[in-house]
Amino acid sequence: MSEAIKTDVLIIGAGPCGLFAVFELGLLDIKAHLIDILDKVGGQCAELYPEKPIYDIPGVPMVTGQGLTEQLMEQIKPFSPTFHLGEMVEKVEKIGDPGFRVTTDAGKVFECKVVVIAAGGGSFQPKRPPVPGVEAYEGTSVFYAVRKMEQFRDKNVVIVGGGDSALDWTLNLHPLAKRITLVHRRDDFRAAPHSVEQMRALVASGKMDLRIGQVTALEGANGQLSAATIKGNDNAVETVPCEMMLPFFGLTMKLGPVAEWGIALEHNLIPVETSAFETSVPGIFAIGDINTYPGKIKLILCGFHEGALMAQKAHRYVYPEKRLVFQYTTSSSSLQKKLGVN
Ligand code: FAD
Repeated sequence: MSEAIKTDVLIIGAGPCGLFAVFELGLLDIKAHLIDILDKVGGQCAELYPEKPIYDIPGVPMVTGQGLTEQLMEQIKPFSPTFHLGEMVEKVEKIGDPGFRVTTDAGKVFECKVVVIAAGGGSFQPKRPPVPGVEAYEGTSVFYAVRKMEQFRDKNVVIVGGGDSALDWTLNLHPLAKRITLVHRRDDFRAAPHSVEQMRALVASGKMDLRIGQVTALEGANGQLSAATIKGNDNAVETVPCEMMLPFFGLTMKLGPVAEWGIALEHNLIPVETSAFETSVPGIFAIGDINTYPGKIKLILCGFHEGALMAQKAHRYVYPEKRLVFQYTTSSSSLQKKLGVN
């Protein structure tokens, strides 16, 4: 086991809420390290919908998941957070009042005054479709998220599912792909009605195919798909050319080790009070999708607000002797100095 890395605050999860927490803590002179299982920052935004537009970030009419991640990284630059990517926090132990020891699966040890759990849905994993042998094509021909739209140019793409992801990618990839076949088990979609209408119009004009049924078999070699067999609800069996498949069967959120950290849980979420989003353990906070309280909405903007209030209380643990004076970034020259703009 390595020597402990000392920091004021340890943030578990580098999704949008963990990233913005660095900003709010930084304004109060609180240093943070962040740990994430993924090999990149941005959480769901970067992993699940990097190229999809988000329309409800206050003051930002439209930004993609990756764009938001990059803007947040730019915003927190003045506070030089340290990232430990590709590592999972396994253990959180209380060693002081307040004081915690946090250990990752890579054997790294941290000692900190405050822990902020911004672990989203935990370690999220896409649900695998029940098609025999699909594993052999994952990462080469079968993808559970679209990272680069260019990968799909001039390809026969089979998209499976009936929710927003399936419909959005049908519409987004349609201009690029050679042919899109959307497969859904019933002729009834959970996606936004406008997207469903657009998809039906493309089908009606012969620009893409819609099959009501299930993918039952795949053909290909060395991880490269060539065809997919679709069994229709009318029992008709058809084989369609398919070089790429995008199954959107939803996500399984595996809470992971959070359950073993001695914190009260409620339906796999962490209940918090709403003045500072502190958990049942003083000094451990939970912000973003991982927490629950009356009225909670899993929106990025809610997680940003939670980070701001968390930082105010964290200040009391990190600097118990200092009085916190509330300041605006607009008018405080000391905050502007920290931001490097003054
Ligand atoms: P996450 O983004 O889930 O990040 C949590 C991070 O914690 C992950 O990177 C994970 O790897 C890491 N982690 C978990 N456990 C551990 C551990 N033990 N050790 C180390 N790291 C760990 N919200 C909006 O506001 N507007 C939208 O338009 C919008 N669109 C969406 C579209 C889609 C398709 C999806 C899936 C979600 C959308 N959301 C939207 C929801 C939004 O993405 C989430 O609310 C947001 O990502 C939550 O941020 P977070 O930081 O709490 O968690």
